[in-house]
Amino acid sequence: MLAEDPRRRPEAGGGDERAEARQIVLAMITDADGRLAFANGDLLTLGGWRWGDVCGRIWHEVLIPPEHRRRVVHAFDRAVNGRDPAGCVEAPLRTSDGRVRVIAWSATPSLDNEGRPTSITSVGVDVTRWTEERDRIAAERDFDAAHDRLTGLPNASTFRWRLGSELTAGRGAGSFTAVLLVALDRLRAVVETLGHEAGDQLVCEMARRIADCVEAAVGVAGRRPERAAKPGAVAEAPPTWVVARWSDDEFAVLLPGLVFPAEAVHMARSIIATVAAPCTGFAADLRLSAAVGIAVAPLDGNNPTTVMRHAAIAQHAGRTMSEHLARFEPSFSREAEDRLLIEQQLPLALARGELSVAFQPEVDAYSHRIVGLEALARWHHPVLGSVPPVRFIPVAEEIGLIGEIGHFVLRSAVRQAAQWRSEGLGEVRVAVNVSAHQLRDHSLVGVVLDCLEQTGFPARLLELEVTESAAMGDSRPAADVLGELARLGVTISLDDFGTGYSNLGKLHRLAISTIKIDRSFLLEDDVNPAADPSALLHALVTLGRNLGLRVIAEGVETEEQLSRLQPQGLDAYQGFLFSRPVPAAEILRLLREGRPLGGPLQAQTA
Ligand code: C2E
Ligand code: MG
Ligand code: MG
Repeated sequence: MLAEDPRRRPEAGGGDERAEARQIVLAMITDADGRLAFANGDLLTLGGWRWGDVCGRIWHEVLIPPEHRRRVVHAFDRAVNGRDPAGCVEAPLRTSDGRVRVIAWSATPSLDNEGRPTSITSVGVDVTRWTEERDRIAAERDFDAAHDRLTGLPNASTFRWRLGSELTAGRGAGSFTAVLLVALDRLRAVVETLGHEAGDQLVCEMARRIADCVEAAVGVAGRRPERAAKPGAVAEAPPTWVVARWSDDEFAVLLPGLVFPAEAVHMARSIIATVAAPCTGFAADLRLSAAVGIAVAPLDGNNPTTVMRHAAIAQHAGRTMSEHLARFEPSFSREAEDRLLIEQQLPLALARGELSVAFQPEVDAYSHRIVGLEALARWHHPVLGSVPPVRFIPVAEEIGLIGEIGHFVLRSAVRQAAQWRSEGLGEVRVAVNVSAHQLRDHSLVGVVLDCLEQTGFPARLLELEVTESAAMGDSRPAADVLGELARLGVTISLDDFGTGYSNLGKLHRLAISTIKIDRSFLLEDDVNPAADPSALLHALVTLGRNLGLRVIAEGVETEEQLSRLQPQGLDAYQGFLFSRPVPAAEILRLLREGRPLGGPLQAQTA
């Protein structure tokens, strides 16, 4: 039997620190029965043993804490018998001062003639620091995989998993699990205006507010919402409520164990209120708003996929509700499925050449001859058929495709108008609709310039139609873009005038030359048939006139409406009475004919 190195005597304590100062190598030799035949000085020092006390004892009874023995012995056996290709075994070792170090052992057997081990030589190094680092990294990786980087909240897959566990656990009859899907309404606009950093700050602020709001509400019931937990932190109690980041601008809230589904509605109201509170530290008076969709299991679904889908459907419905929230109803489904289909198919529409442009004439109020053409996007889908713009334009805005579609319409319309002009068909103005999203994007100016340069079409004959809210909202970039466009010589018209919430005081400051009075002002007042429908119309026309603007009436359908309009002294009319929106080939025919369109002409005043 080999004896210990006499130059190295074990010392009581302190060996560990010394060992950390240099790389120590532990060595031991055991006999065929696993009894210690040799232990080097480093091993004895680290363990605080005297060789005389451990010599001949079963190695793992000396070295390995009882709770780890089975696993370590099994791993050693595999390493010795060559079944573990790595051949290295990590084993804890309790040191003389009661601390636990992690040792990586490699074991090599000496064999007799028949291949049986006669002794095993094991060499170990202290890898405690390395394993701690490794475990910390692994914990961080696990945390990152389960949490959103920006807010530290659980992420969508964690949420889905937690929802699944709640639904399978089931909380007994009469108990409900609600999911609230909270969408931040104006986040994209904020990012476009103030930049990504401000957007991130706002998302973090909203994450905190929503989590606080849930915590405050459920704290009463003695439950804790799951929020960001630091890696390695010990959970105080198994969390039942979850607030998670579901997507860039959505949060999901899991509310299990509800007695009444209505509790979820109360929570939704509180969340909407907390999101709507002003945000300080940003541009003056920055406020977001939220729309919340609620699905309650098992009433609205009993698996995570259905519950989440129904919450999303309810959220879309909620956007149009006065309270900005909705609990799922089966009737929402059909509408939402159509929308979903549009959302999926629209990105392909441009590439597949399914989009086109129709033109609707604007006629001079006196001659009824064409003075302008409004370009209107048309989408013909092979299965869905003709999808009207009121259905696909809002989706395009939401999914960030309006820029591409808008540019397509702009290019097509200007190219077409330039061609008609080159054929000597007159100085006809072409009007293109521009959405609020496009107006916040400075690249619009470049695209317009590009179109004009490529086609040689004069800027003064291009009109861009913007809605009141887009032009007069609080967005500075929109006003700047309008100004730049006007400087190019392009004219700007306010579309659907009278339906928005115009700040009329601002009207004269914007670079606008035309107002298009919305068609609702031509309709009889159903609620109050005695009201004079011309009174409001007259007020709007007078306003436009006083500001020196061109005034057009949209949606003129009948001769009766025309006769009401004629005394008002407008500049032009647009509506089905004169022509519906038609393909370019039909416009070509109308331009060539050059005859007046629509109802009876007004007698010219002197
Ligand atoms: P808008 O810009 O106010 O366009 C006028 C809409 O009123 C057109 O509907 C037109 O067909 C319809 N209209 C015209 N005359 C009459 C009438 O006498 N009676 C009735 N009932 N309707 C009439 P359309 O083509 O369905 O477009 C609807 C809206 O979609 C447009 O309203 C516009 O806001 C939007 N839109 C269409 N194309 C584009 C586009 O290329 N870009 C953007 N951003 N929006 C577009
Ligand atoms: Mg328009
Ligand atoms: Mg309009």
